[in-house]
Order: sequence, then C-alpha cells, then structure tokens
Amino acid sequence: MPLPLSHPALSAADPELADLVGAEERLQADTLRLIPSENYVSAAVLEATGTVLQNKYSEGYAGRRYYEGQQNIDRVETLAVERAKAVFGVEHANVQPYSGSPANLAAYLAFARPGDTVLGMSLPMGGHLTHGWGVSATGTWFHGVQYGVHADTGLIDFDQVRDLARKERPKIIFCGGTAVPRTIDFAAFGEIAREVDAVLVADIAHIAGLIAGGAHPSPVPHADVISTTTHKTLRGPRGAMLMSRATHAKALDKAVFPGLQGGPHNHTTAAIAVALHEAAAPAFRDYAHAVVANAKALAEALLARGFDLVSGGTDNHLVLIDLTGKDVPGKVAAKALDRAGIVVNYNTVPFDPRKPFDPSGIRIGTPSLTSRGLGTDLMPQVAEWIERGVTAAKADDEAALAAVRGEVAELMAHYPAPGLATA
Ligand SMILES: *Cc1c(COP(=O)(O)O)cnc(C)c1O
Repeated sequence: MPLPLSHPALSAADPELADLVGAEERLQADTLRLIPSENYVSAAVLEATGTVLQNKYSEGYAGRRYYEGQQNIDRVETLAVERAKAVFGVEHANVQPYSGSPANLAAYLAFARPGDTVLGMSLPMGGHLTHGWGVSATGTWFHGVQYGVHADTGLIDFDQVRDLARKERPKIIFCGGTAVPRTIDFAAFGEIAREVDAVLVADIAHIAGLIAGGAHPSPVPHADVISTTTHKTLRGPRGAMLMSRATHAKALDKAVFPGLQGGPHNHTTAAIAVALHEAAAPAFRDYAHAVVANAKALAEALLARGFDLVSGGTDNHLVLIDLTGKDVPGKVAAKALDRAGIVVNYNTVPFDPRKPFDPSGIRIGTPSLTSRGLGTDLMPQVAEWIERGVTAAKADDEAALAAVRGEVAELMAHYPAPGLATA
C-alpha cells in the first residue's frame, strides 16, 4: 500500500512528528477498526480541516461577529448551519461546539442552574459521562440522577425513568448513550419529559449518521434539544452541533457563545459543512443502512459462536459483548485483539460485577469497516477472528494472535480506507 501519504512540508519541518503521522496512517490502513465511535472521514473532509480557515478568529455568529474580515467565514458557517437544518429537519442548528462534551455542557448552561437535578442514563449502563455522572463536571455541579436497563432484557427500564422523573422533577432529561445497542425510543422519553416539564436532550452522538441516513428514527418530533458529535457515524471532523426548534435557538446560541466558548474552529466548521453535504447524498443512505446490516450480521455470527451479547443483539451500529461466559476479562481480550490487528475497547456491561477499569465486556461497531466497503458476507469472518483472538487471549497464545494479524492485514489491503486511499 502506498503509505505513508505525502506531507512534504511537515516531513521537512518536523520529521519526528511526520513519522508518527505516517505510522498512524499505516495502522489505520492495516487494522480492522471496530471502535463504534470511530470512523474514516473522506479525503474532502480531511482536506477541509487542513485549510487556512484555521487562521481566523470569528467570535459571534454569522452577520454578528466581533471581528472584521468574516466575508468568507460567515458564508462557511451559514452553509454548515443550513445543511445541518436540511439533513436533520430542524429549525435551528449551532455548529460551533468544540466537541460533544462541551455541546452537552451548553445545554446545562441554557436550561439549568448549578445544583439543579438532571436525569441521565448511568455510565455503566451505557450512558455518557456528561449525562450527570459523578466524576464529570456535570455530576459535580448538578445533581445527577441515573436510570438504567432491565437486567433480563438489557433494554431501557422506562418504568424507572418515569418514576425517577416524577420523584426528582429534573430540569433536564438526557437520552442516548455510548454503549446502547438498541433503538432509542425518543417518543417514550418525550412523553415523560413533557409530563414533568423537563427539557429533553437527545444526545445522538453515536447514531447521528444513522439518523441522517434514515437507519434510525429521528428524535426531532420528540426532543427539545438534539446534541451530537460530528465525528462518529456522521463521518465528519471532530466537532459537535446543537439543534432545536426556533424557540430554544437564542438560549442555546448564548450558552455556546459567549457562555462557554470563545472563537469557533472555522476549519472544523468547514469540514462539518462538507460532511453534511456528503450525508445529504443518496450514497449516505446506503452507507447508514449498510452499517446496521453489517452490525446485525456480525451479531448473528457472534451468537452462533456462543458469544453473549447485551440485549441479545443490535438494532444499530454497535454490539456489546459480555465475555463473562468465555472466562476472559474484557481488558485482556481487548489487548489481545489489538495485537491481532482488531481494534476494540473494553467496556462495562450492565450490572457488571467487575470494576470499570477492568470490566467484563468489549464494545464493537461497524461504522469504520462499512466505510471501507466490507459487506455482510465478511461478518462471519470477522466473528471468527474475534473468537480466535479471545481464545488466544485466554491461552496466552501469541502465535495465534500473530496469525490473525496477518489475515486481517491481507483482507484490509483489498479495502482501501477513505482518506487513506491514494491514487
Ligand atoms: C462521544 C459522545 C459524547 C462526547 O463527545 P466528545 O466529542 O468525546 O466530547 C457525548 N455523548 C455521547 C452519547 C457520546 O457518545
């Protein structure tokens, strides 16, 4: 494979750093990347992030800046905003949040005061740190109350969500998460939020691309605010957006700037605009549906090999494997799979008896491999590699891991990654 890519100025100015970038290019090309929050952006998105837009300061919003020289930047940001509104069907979009965590913090700033109660999914059950978990600023400055899933089905316990909402009267309810393999019932959350007069924030960071591509229901009819990263299934640069009806536009905009941030990252805004342009194309619908088809096929193949999956399978891009029955801790399995060229992360499973830094599960997903063009026919092969990796982890069999490593690299050479494919 003709890697590393050419970065002539970087190589001349800082060969040490250029070597590291080149090594990462090779790693991303050769390995099977199964981290569900990661992806491969297109060459166009990658180029947009490396433009002179990076040189500008633009505090404020299009047409209302605190700096001159915004003729082009205003148009870039307006393009991103208009495309976000069209792709997601919302009245308002703010494309300035630096990433998903600050986007969520802006929602707190807009709709709650320190000490107020917020209701979110518990981190070990699949929620995100910023949904009021204790070690996060959101759980320190606000009173976080947490819901979870049913032990038997692995599905969200809506009786618990309703009971907690009625008892605690949260200002904000968060739905969405980082390890939720099933469809989020936005309508059920919306009904509960309206009953207790809470602001419902749908955090669609993981599934934004599936929603944009019509492969997951949209929260738009049910949520007051939609928060998302742009770099996961949406396949854009590292960044975030907040979306809402027009009624909440002012509160959200004020919270992002000047509430929480200074100047927006204009090169990121540009790349978000490019990613949204790509997400509006018919091919992206195919991509989103292929991500889900691959995840379902992978889940089936893993079940056939005796793996225990949280909730018994998947509706989206993500599969959460409970390795308790295989008698291998998640971290041991994840590190062994990494040596076999299969990149996953160890993860807690609901009601995990083990500690968060040494949990029982691994979390995998199909956004990246789908971006490279792998289809459902190859998912049994992926499941077989995972089984061999987990078995080798238990047996401490480095030769078996090396054998998988070779097979993975050979297959991946036939599926060039977007952004890394050279002419
Ligand atoms: C990834 C993620 C975030 C945070 O995004 P960062 O960009 O890493 O700050 C927030 N919420 C959910 C549900 C996520 O999956």
